[in-house]
Amino acid sequence: MRNNICVFCGASEGQNPAYVASACEMGQLIASQGRRLIYGGGKKGLMGVVADAVLAAGGEVIGIIPERLVEAETAHHGLSQLEIVPDMHTRKARMAELADAFIALPGGIGTLEELFEIWTWGQIGYHSKPVALLDVAGFYQPLSQFLTHVADQGFMRHDYLATLHVSASAEQLLQQFDHYQPTPYDRWAK
Ligand code: AMP
Repeated sequence: MRNNICVFCGASEGQNPAYVASACEMGQLIASQGRRLIYGGGKKGLMGVVADAVLAAGGEVIGIIPERLVEAETAHHGLSQLEIVPDMHTRKARMAELADAFIALPGGIGTLEELFEIWTWGQIGYHSKPVALLDVAGFYQPLSQFLTHVADQGFMRHDYLATLHVSASAEQLLQQFDHYQPTPYDRWAK
């Protein structure tokens, strides 16, 4: 079982109430399945919602926040563990180290940056952990279409695109993580 689930998500709540509801559901599922949440350590937006949902359901949360964002993102001091790190690079490296799998919920460019970094690290063999998008209310459809375009145009292999799990169901994504078999991937093979 992949126990440590890293969630990337918005430091805002977004327009559609479905985003908050899905962050809540994700948190409850992580806790009820005995997994641990790894995330950016803030209280704002969907980040705070998912962390609070895990804690309210009796689960464990590790937050990693850079010094500079302790105030701006309102570091969550009620977590099982809060790590304050020197910078953004250390934050992402630490989340990558602790996590067994990664899920992006709806979010802004910070979320997208984190998602793409971890997914591209897989493409060049830095890790072989699963990466997924929780497609709440179709939020990730335009991005999925664009990524298909990228692959169609010959800038990414379709088999690597297929490694990005996309589902509207948090339960299904967590289940898929447990069955995920990393296949050795050669970015440069034809
Ligand atoms: P956002 O999706 O823009 O609301 O940001 C969500 C999270 O991503 C916040 O915790 C941000 O601190 C984080 N973030 C923003 N920019 C970056 C970046 N360049 N690298 C890593 N994380 C970032």
